[in-house]
Amino acid sequence: MKNYRYTLKGLDCANCAQKIEDKIAQTDGYEQVNVNFSTSKLSFKTEKQNNVKEEIIEIIKSLEPEVEILDEDNTIQEHSERNNSDILRLILGIIIYALGIYLPFGKTFMICAIIISLIILLSRTAKKAFIQITKNKVLDENTLITISVIGACFVDKTMEGIMVIVLYEIGKILEAKAVSKTRKSISDLMDIKPEYANLKNGEEVEQVNPGDVKIGDIILVKTGEKIPLDGIVINGSAEIDNSALTGESALIKVEEKSKVLSGGINVQGLIEIKVEKIYENSTVSQILNLVENATDKKAKTETFVAKAAKIYTPIVLGFALIVAIFMPIIFKNVTYSQSIYKALIFLVISCPCSIAISVPLSYFSGIGKASRRGILIKGSDYLDGLKDIKQIIFDKTGTITTGNFLVSEINSLDDNYNKDEILNYFAMGEKFSNHPIAKSILKEIKDEIDTSEVEKFEEISGKGIKYQYQGKDIQIGNASLVELDGKLKESEGTTLYLKVENKIVGSITLIDEIKKDAKSTIKTLSKIGIKTKMLTGDKKEIANKIAKEVEINEIKSEMLPQDKYTELEKILEQRNEKNKVAYVGDGINDSPVLARADIGISMGGIGSSSAIEASDVVIMTDELEKITEAINISKKTNKIIKQNLTFAIGVKLLILILSLFGIADMWEAVFADVGTTLITIFNTIRILK
Ligand code: ADP
Ligand code: MG
Repeated sequence: MKNYRYTLKGLDCANCAQKIEDKIAQTDGYEQVNVNFSTSKLSFKTEKQNNVKEEIIEIIKSLEPEVEILDEDNTIQEHSERNNSDILRLILGIIIYALGIYLPFGKTFMICAIIISLIILLSRTAKKAFIQITKNKVLDENTLITISVIGACFVDKTMEGIMVIVLYEIGKILEAKAVSKTRKSISDLMDIKPEYANLKNGEEVEQVNPGDVKIGDIILVKTGEKIPLDGIVINGSAEIDNSALTGESALIKVEEKSKVLSGGINVQGLIEIKVEKIYENSTVSQILNLVENATDKKAKTETFVAKAAKIYTPIVLGFALIVAIFMPIIFKNVTYSQSIYKALIFLVISCPCSIAISVPLSYFSGIGKASRRGILIKGSDYLDGLKDIKQIIFDKTGTITTGNFLVSEINSLDDNYNKDEILNYFAMGEKFSNHPIAKSILKEIKDEIDTSEVEKFEEISGKGIKYQYQGKDIQIGNASLVELDGKLKESEGTTLYLKVENKIVGSITLIDEIKKDAKSTIKTLSKIGIKTKMLTGDKKEIANKIAKEVEINEIKSEMLPQDKYTELEKILEQRNEKNKVAYVGDGINDSPVLARADIGISMGGIGSSSAIEASDVVIMTDELEKITEAINISKKTNKIIKQNLTFAIGVKLLILILSLFGIADMWEAVFADVGTTLITIFNTIRILK
């Protein structure tokens, strides 16, 4: 199976996006087809080798002849050329109509002029309607409009008919503008893609595509430039603005040996960076991928709207027929020409455009906004789910606490081992571990650590590590790992013991700091009705102490990773499906729990790929506050979607009722339709603010 991605140019109606997606999905050999209206991207998988693009082009052209298929990297420009020809056509149609009506050349001339102007004005919509009916056997809004316009002429309301198509066309032009503007403001938010890298080649510096830089290459980043790839500074110093990645505007100072991430901007200084990751694996491209693909997974509301739209048009048509045929029979004072006119209004007002466009755009805006604030949300589904969280379970190390432990004590418990030797035993093992504890211990060591004689390293999740050194069994970990019998005095902090063969010879005690925003976040969460709980592998005393400080009521300590999983399963069983349970962890030995929770939120620490993979929401800055922020973005997005739906449906119902009583005319109906579409699009943009 190969993955394909294309950009669709000129995709300006959400229904068309859905139609293209459905049609390709129904074609043999194509799987996981997705058309993302918000990004204008088409993606699918297929086993086929030959003529894939040709076949896709043919399918798309049969549905939407105006849509162009470009290779993935082409970002879409405004559809200005197309808009211009539409505007010309519109003006021409109106002029011919006006000439026909106002010039005194008799009835035949007038009728001819009206017919010509109708042909000009209707050409695009009628052509689309025809293609839909003949090739795909679907009735869509193009059909509704075409029938209404032609119908209006037959019941002697030509002026109204012309009005409908003129307003509808103006609406389409404005809509395309508004959609592309929204797309642009979203993509501006995501403007972190580096255009080039300054590759150093001996003394020469050459501008190359970031994709061509290899691991180990040296690149130069000057003041004002974006850092194109992840790496380590080997020369110079600079101040970096990471706000595009994290939403934090405070500048970060980097110097020799500092790690730097792609996507940051060098505000001041000159640095040479040794590249550590190729572009594809660098932070910036991971974030871009994530956000671009996030809206590929559709939220339930979105799928519902798409499905509803399909059965909607036939229902409306049926209803209109009933009104047209039966009104004169039931109400004696209604003529057929009146009832047909009412039915036509019905058709105009029922266009589902505003709804179909605003829902996907809203989710995309929400995800774009969150990513700008350093919160990566992996799908509309999760953005939608965040608002329904009723319980959050926190891991301790690296989540509630910073995970930057400070070594507070090194104790020798055996005269044959001094403190330096004990630290060295720790370091030799922790060199192979990714745990925050390991990283903190290694910070204590200045010199290179010789690990050449370390063998059979093994990590025991939630307990510690094991290895062999010069044939001796070494264990490093908590009391439960080294089978401590309680004779030793416990220190305040997380104590790890060193066991050589069968004897405990030393210990190191570490102290972790609670994150600054832990207490306030827990408080805010409980204010908005979310229950919190902390699970930790650490010992009871520490768990209690931390719980008291951050005011978390429920805790469970001394849990192995699998215990955390069982605990989560229990919670999931007891809750109501609608009340979502989130788990917040750092992705180190709790990936299964992150994956099992309704919403797994990881403290990504920028660039940690294991966390990014396992979770549904990644918090780039490791700040707990961002959880509340993510929930707020979810609530706001949901509120705006609801507003849009209520507004659009409300206006439509109102006009419908008014039209049944003869108060609303056809052109008011089309005005309402175009107006609601534009208003909902503008309302959607508020999410980005
Ligand atoms: P938490 O639930 O707080 O995130 P973990 O499950 O990651 O904690 O680890 C639980 C305990 O296991 C730690 O407090 C520590 O005592 C021990 N431990 C885990 N990994 C290591 C390691 N690499 N080195 C030493 N001890 C470790
Ligand atoms: Mg942990």
